[in-house]
Amino acid sequence: MSQISYSFVEKENPHGHIRVVSFDAEGTLVTPDFTLAVWHEAIPAFYAQRNGIEIDRAKEIVAMEYDKIGDQKVEWYDINYWFRYLHLDDSESVIKSCQDKLYYYPEVIEVLSSLSSQYKLIVASGTPVELLHYLLQDVEHYFTHIFSASSHYKQLKTPDFYLQVCREMDVAPEEIAHVGDSWQFDFLNSKQVGVNAFYLDRIGHDREGSLTDLTQLKSRLPR
Ligand SMILES: [Mg+2]
Repeated sequence: MSQISYSFVEKENPHGHIRVVSFDAEGTLVTPDFTLAVWHEAIPAFYAQRNGIEIDRAKEIVAMEYDKIGDQKVEWYDINYWFRYLHLDDSESVIKSCQDKLYYYPEVIEVLSSLSSQYKLIVASGTPVELLHYLLQDVEHYFTHIFSASSHYKQLKTPDFYLQVCREMDVAPEEIAHVGDSWQFDFLNSKQVGVNAFYLDRIGHDREGSLTDLTQLKSRLPR
């Protein structure tokens, strides 16, 4: 199936230039403020209220529970899992209570607007759809597809996840560029299957080939 679609694409697109530009969401388009507020402020606050304990104690307990799972397991990203696990009931109001913490990085709108005239833009994120919907609310119209590894594929952003995204977009991995701020989940795992991977390092540790913001992406895309 994938072989057939790839060979079709090759004929139509012999130079294998980029057709699709894929973005991670958190830390790439959206600052971590919203996510930190949800996981480390709002959820502990609801937990404290439900259990009649001090907020600082609730923060400690909740953080300890997060650590027990860790970011290499898909449950870590699943807000519904955590609501069940912590016996909380209304994830929607927790998410809404953090809406004033939602910020896009300053260059995001301009970059998306410029790239969208030449490429199909997609989001490939590990964040569950319940949160992604909020994260992307002001930029969603730039994207033709939004992929959530945890919600749609029940996995982390593994090499296989990127292959499934290619299949869904009906392009070869070489025709996708992906950019994100996780060395493992955005850079290494997408690169492994042949995607043109870009590591976004906003703090600028100067890892070779990395971008310090998204404005540098356009000139680095293979032609
Ligand atoms: Mg990220």
